[in-house]
Amino acid sequence: MDLCVQVVAATRTAAIPQANPMPTPDWDALTGQLATLPGESLTLLRREPLARWTTLGIGGPARVVARCRCRDAVVACVTACRACHLPWVVLGKGGNVLVPDEGLDALVLVLDGELATLERREHRFVAGGGLPLAKLVRAAVEASLTGVECLGGIPGTVGGALAMNAGAFGQEILDVLAWAEVVDGDGSARRMERWEIEGGYRWSVLGKGRIVTTAEFALRPERRDVLAARLREARDRRRAALPVEPSAGSVFRNPPGDWAGRLLELAGCKGLRVGGAEVSARHANVVVNAGGARAADVRAVIAEMARRVEERFGVHLELELKVLERDGSVAAGPPGDLA
Ligand SMILES: Cc1cc2nc3c(=O)[nH]c(=O)nc-3n(C[C@H](O)[C@H](O)[C@H](O)COP(=O)(O)OP(=O)(O)OC[C@H]3O[C@@H](n4cnc5c(N)ncnc54)[C@H](O)[C@@H]3O)c2cc1C
Repeated sequence: MDLCVQVVAATRTAAIPQANPMPTPDWDALTGQLATLPGESLTLLRREPLARWTTLGIGGPARVVARCRCRDAVVACVTACRACHLPWVVLGKGGNVLVPDEGLDALVLVLDGELATLERREHRFVAGGGLPLAKLVRAAVEASLTGVECLGGIPGTVGGALAMNAGAFGQEILDVLAWAEVVDGDGSARRMERWEIEGGYRWSVLGKGRIVTTAEFALRPERRDVLAARLREARDRRRAALPVEPSAGSVFRNPPGDWAGRLLELAGCKGLRVGGAEVSARHANVVVNAGGARAADVRAVIAEMARRVEERFGVHLELELKVLERDGSVAAGPPGDLA
């Protein structure tokens, strides 16, 4: 009897697959991998609190934040992450992300220096991925060029806007994109032409596993006073509709043919609060940090918002907000499961 049990146990042990064990992340090797880069092209910040890198003002520390000031630094970081089996994530102004309270066990890239510059070429602008979107908008209006003036007031960088295909009042940033230079997940840099770049309502392939380092926008001439008036109107409408407290803009995407905000308001979500996270009294699709909010509070509020809309209207709302997990990946699954 004993012998029989031993044989079965031995067979089971042998049957456990040994191939492809999960590679172990090697954080210690990261600095060595990046040592050949000139100091001015990259700064590494360890245990950097991410609350200060997001518009919600929420989030624990990143294992490492890499401030990349040129494309070579981005390539080196992504290549090093690959070699050391480390996850990475790129952040702009953090205008559309929720970072976990425990922080990110990932290399967080932010773009600066050469990657935050702006150059005019007649009716075109070449912008770094880390350039604040507001600077592109202002320069375009001053140059009497139309195409981005309605995006005035959207917090973010050019790279983040392209990843999200940010838009407002009839304009979307992909509409005026000519090309983008990117660094792919394997560390290779290349130029993607507009026709290669798929995207739609609040998404684009530029936000999927790659980093936009530079992009060119093709704009059209328009009277400056017309553009200035459109920019003012966009900002005024935004100010009237959105809360003043810290937020990450719309939490949910609009379902086809409807408005998430309308459904959420009818489902009684305005004022819903968990800890310091509250659904804005001004806009039912915006969760604000009303003071000391934690990511867990925001997740709980979002889950309840989704649950109420589903219960009342049978509509499954999808997240626009990128709710990040500890390794920087975007939380998958229905929003109702976030709590
Ligand atoms: C008050 C308020 C109002 C808003 N109004 C609008 C609005 O009207 N319309 C709208 O579309 N959005 C709006 N937003 C949402 C947000 O501002 C946009 O989604 C913006 O484009 C985010 O840019 P970001 O640089 O902050 O990106 P982040 O929030 O930092 O990142 C967003 C996503 O883009 C990725 N990403 C960032 N940089 C890069 C890069 N260089 N290359 C590749 N991927 C990158 C990130 O990994 C992440 O997945 C609003 C937000 C707030 C707080």
